[in-house]
Amino acid sequence: MVRVRGHLPQAIDNSRKKLWHYIRDVLTKKATRLMTVSDPTGAISAPDYRQASFLTSASKLSQCPADEGWEVAFAGRSNAGKSSAINSLTNNKKLARTSRTPGRTQLLNFFQLSEQQRLVDLPGYGFAKVPQAVKREWTKQLENYLQQRQSLRGLVLMMDTRHPLQPFDEQMLGWAMAASMPVHILLTKADKLKKGPAKSTLLKVRAQLAGHGDLVSVQLFSALKHTGHPELIAVMDAWLTDVSVYDDDVEEEAL
Ligand code: GDP
Repeated sequence: MVRVRGHLPQAIDNSRKKLWHYIRDVLTKKATRLMTVSDPTGAISAPDYRQASFLTSASKLSQCPADEGWEVAFAGRSNAGKSSAINSLTNNKKLARTSRTPGRTQLLNFFQLSEQQRLVDLPGYGFAKVPQAVKREWTKQLENYLQQRQSLRGLVLMMDTRHPLQPFDEQMLGWAMAASMPVHILLTKADKLKKGPAKSTLLKVRAQLAGHGDLVSVQLFSALKHTGHPELIAVMDAWLTDVSVYDDDVEEEAL
């Protein structure tokens, strides 16, 4: 399956939205056919997350590794449980520590899974004690990364189950949606709530985000209890093996 992505302007009326989705679907089908014909061996294996190793850090788009292959980014407010989730997914306590090494904390940290597949640890907000001007610059670079990085196939957004959809989360969702970037939300530390309230939070968050259709999915997760892994891995495997075509220019012309 090939997914065509493009930028959907924020202020757009419903009829144009429908047209935009129609065009995207047609392009997606065409691209799928093309890829099947021109690249019959285009299959790529799901990665072994335990193989993740630190690759490099970047503070702006130009310092990122070559924009090729497949990438999944992790984001969350400070204390949302991002490091614990990454550690638990990769079964490697050293990885998130790598991201916390002084000097690396405010950067995008890239971890290699295979030659063509990467994990990217994005900073939380409230990150480090740095001047406002640095934070503003960082925010700009983060937005650039989310909206322009072609190899980025999806964003895993972590939120504490007890405090979902904070302003940071809304901002990340807004940027991702503007780039038609799929987002998978982990409601972390699910073990801190009893089953009933955790489930009702899950349903409530899903209902709040239903307007984004298939682009947003939500699950409960606990690094402590090791629950939610199969669901997360299924989503990430799909993203990291998805053969996609990015053709923003064609879509913008079509509009
Ligand atoms: P980060 O700042 O987003 O990287 O958050 P951390 O992974 O460092 O977690 C923040 C705090 O939440 C730490 O004290 C963790 O031990 C705790 N924590 C993280 N995940 C879980 C979880 O699944 N269950 C519980 N009970 N605590 C968690």
